Amino acid sequence: MNEYDSSRMRDLLGDSHGFVRTDNPDEADVLLLNTCSIREKAQEKVFSELGRWHKLKKSRPDVVIGVGGCVASQEGEGILKRAPYVDLVFGPQTLHRLPQMLNDLSGDGERKRISQVDVSFPEIEKFDFLPEPRIEGHKAFVSIMEGCSKYCTFCVVPYTRGEEVSRPFDDVIAEVAQIARQGVREVTLLGQNVNGYYGSFHDGSICNFAALLRAVAAVPGIGRIRYTTSHPLEFNDDLIAAHAELPQLAAHVHLPVQSGSDRILAAMKRNHEISVYRDTITRLKAAKPGIELSSDFIIGFPGESEQDFQDTMDLVDFVGFDHSYSFIYSKRPGTPAAELPDDTPEALKKQRLNILQTQIARNTGRKTEAMLGSVQRVLVDRPSTRFPGWLIGIAENTRWIHFPGDAALIGRFADVQVTGVESINALSAGAPLWVESEAEAQIGMAVLPGRIPLWHEAR
Ligand code: SF4
Repeated sequence: MNEYDSSRMRDLLGDSHGFVRTDNPDEADVLLLNTCSIREKAQEKVFSELGRWHKLKKSRPDVVIGVGGCVASQEGEGILKRAPYVDLVFGPQTLHRLPQMLNDLSGDGERKRISQVDVSFPEIEKFDFLPEPRIEGHKAFVSIMEGCSKYCTFCVVPYTRGEEVSRPFDDVIAEVAQIARQGVREVTLLGQNVNGYYGSFHDGSICNFAALLRAVAAVPGIGRIRYTTSHPLEFNDDLIAAHAELPQLAAHVHLPVQSGSDRILAAMKRNHEISVYRDTITRLKAAKPGIELSSDFIIGFPGESEQDFQDTMDLVDFVGFDHSYSFIYSKRPGTPAAELPDDTPEALKKQRLNILQTQIARNTGRKTEAMLGSVQRVLVDRPSTRFPGWLIGIAENTRWIHFPGDAALIGRFADVQVTGVESINALSAGAPLWVESEAEAQIGMAVLPGRIPLWHEAR
């Protein structure tokens, strides 16, 4: 999510102000820190980085220092109190005002030196002012809703990004059509609770997420659709039906669950029981045979017992997750869960996380190996750097596949037969890649377990 916002800032400044990106703070005119409060010590890290920049500003007083993101939202004016040399403080909902805020800092060429703070939640305005969607080759990310109204007890998002607000239907479809004309073939719809999308049609009536998916699938040129991040509460019958109907919907869904225990789900205020999640997965697998699932897990939430953890492992066995984003719980300041007593030893939490990750990594390897001999539809992305003269494409289940082919295939879908696989374990052990000779590999080649960046939920 923050990476997405960072790229938006880059686009905004590059497009409208002609800034050139540098990774070297010493040569920058504007230094922007996009912060995230995922970890308890995030605030401290922000101020320690700002301290380094302060030294730089002492030698070059014209340098503009800005702080954005979740910590900016949470701290607001407090950042200026502690670091008065900061010029701009803006939240995730006001990053589109960045060019204007930079403009306002200077008057007639002379810096006004009045620091600007804007951490408000201006609702839909953000969507109106953002530049073009982020396009990576023939894939693109399109933001369709922002914020979250779920208030899980461990999460800062509702406080830092505001309540859920959806983009109008026509705006989303116009943007998808435009990027499709530019050559985009795979689109990922983004939102904190993407399946909680309720955008308005131009006549004021409301469009739900499944209806939006059907409309996106109808846009000429769009051959594959992904979305992230979804919530189990809004994974309704209509959305499951869309998976059965639409061949463009990738057979891969990221559906965060966080825990397999009803007791912990209640303490997290996830507002559903685990039976709902299991039922959703069962119906989804029936609707789209072969669909793969990934999820987010928080291990060691306050009060997690051995039985609660076992319930999570039972769920892992039941679903057979392909991969996960899993973390040990850490307090986010200002959230209700931060007040809960937590007496589970850190070593035990690490042990549980290791058990879960090992089990899911086994699934990943097993599923990768099961692709051997299969024919996979890939979106051909670029020349393979690993195998000179070959191409690389991404399969529906997010594995990267290398294969010999003509560069004219880039940006198109191709069916390739998998003739060799490389597991994650082999990669981490540094084992040599097993490949067949090019002569033998008529159309397919090595599958590498890769994945597109998911906008995952655990915060
Ligand atoms: S974890 Fe997800 S659903 Fe829960 S409050 Fe955070 S963003 Fe919302």
